[in-house]
Amino acid sequence: ATPAATMVGTTIGAQNGVLFKGGDILERAKDVDTVVFDKTGTLTEGEMELTDVVVFDGKAGARSGGGDADAAPDGGQLAERERLDEDDVLRFAATAESGSEHPLAQAIVEGAEERGIEVGSPESFENVPGHGIRATVDVSGDAGGTSDSSDGGGEVLVGNRKLLRENGVDPDPAAETMERLESEGKTAMLVAYEGELVGVVADADTVKESAKSAVSQLRGRGIDVMMLTGDNERTARAVAEQVGIDPDNVRAEVLPADKSDAVEAIQDEGRQAMMVGDGVNDAPALAVAYVGTAIGSGTDVAIEAADVTLMRDDPVDVVKAIRISDATLQKIK
Ligand code: ADP
Ligand code: MG
Repeated sequence: ATPAATMVGTTIGAQNGVLFKGGDILERAKDVDTVVFDKTGTLTEGEMELTDVVVFDGKAGARSGGGDADAAPDGGQLAERERLDEDDVLRFAATAESGSEHPLAQAIVEGAEERGIEVGSPESFENVPGHGIRATVDVSGDAGGTSDSSDGGGEVLVGNRKLLRENGVDPDPAAETMERLESEGKTAMLVAYEGELVGVVADADTVKESAKSAVSQLRGRGIDVMMLTGDNERTARAVAEQVGIDPDNVRAEVLPADKSDAVEAIQDEGRQAMMVGDGVNDAPALAVAYVGTAIGSGTDVAIEAADVTLMRDDPVDVVKAIRISDATLQKIK
């Protein structure tokens, strides 16, 4: 393209909230044949809300919070306590998660507080990236650690199946509950206390209003649309379905550190991929993509790694970026 054409394209982009980092990027965008969207915060609002709390009494299986009296504890450590109810499970989870800044964690803490549960601080806390968290929590009921319980609290796990398995807790009794919540597009997390499964909590996110239209416009241009996420397969597919992405084009359970490898694998198939993401997690993937696009309220790290920045938080602007590139370069041919 001539420098003048490039300048026109770049200016039109800027007027539309699409910032190209240079003339070469503007030229490249028209050749994108695959758009890979991050899920959380890119296709969805990224504002989680706590939606479900389910109690498990050890091996007794799921129990509703209605307080029916026939499901007894299974004789494990918790048998000595009164039977757990939803608030107990939520208090364990929220106290443990108050050590985390993950949006999933914040939703659990806020949800607990909204239900009037006093959320304390964990005595120790460890983040297990892509899997969940492990914390030591005083469950005496005195939130805030005012009790001087001598046992120093119990170990709480909150996270996915793999987190529990790797810590010697069988997640299978919760399989049906997990699957039901996940097929609703929710992120379901298992809660374990002292090596026993005690419950499931679920967070839901809202799909952005224009996500579906963005996907259909891209597909209308003959562009393949994919989704990349650390979330589990079933939740990812449910969200993909809501926005019109083919379930075969979903890459789920991708660890933060593996997102860039996933983009490279897609490009190794000979594709020219645009990766669209918002988070720190996405920065390496944005950097390796043929075109990396940071969206809206994205983190500085993502914006720095990207070739294109979409100023508004709107997935339809991905189509705009490609269209501007296309139009600019066609005119000057
Ligand atoms: P995403 O790509 O959606 O941001 P992550 O890679 O951060 O997801 O996490 C992947 C999965 O690990 C989550 O879907 C969840 O099951 C689990 N997980 C991560 N962080 C937490 C947490 N703080 N509490 C509970 N579960 C978590
Ligand atoms: Mg994200």
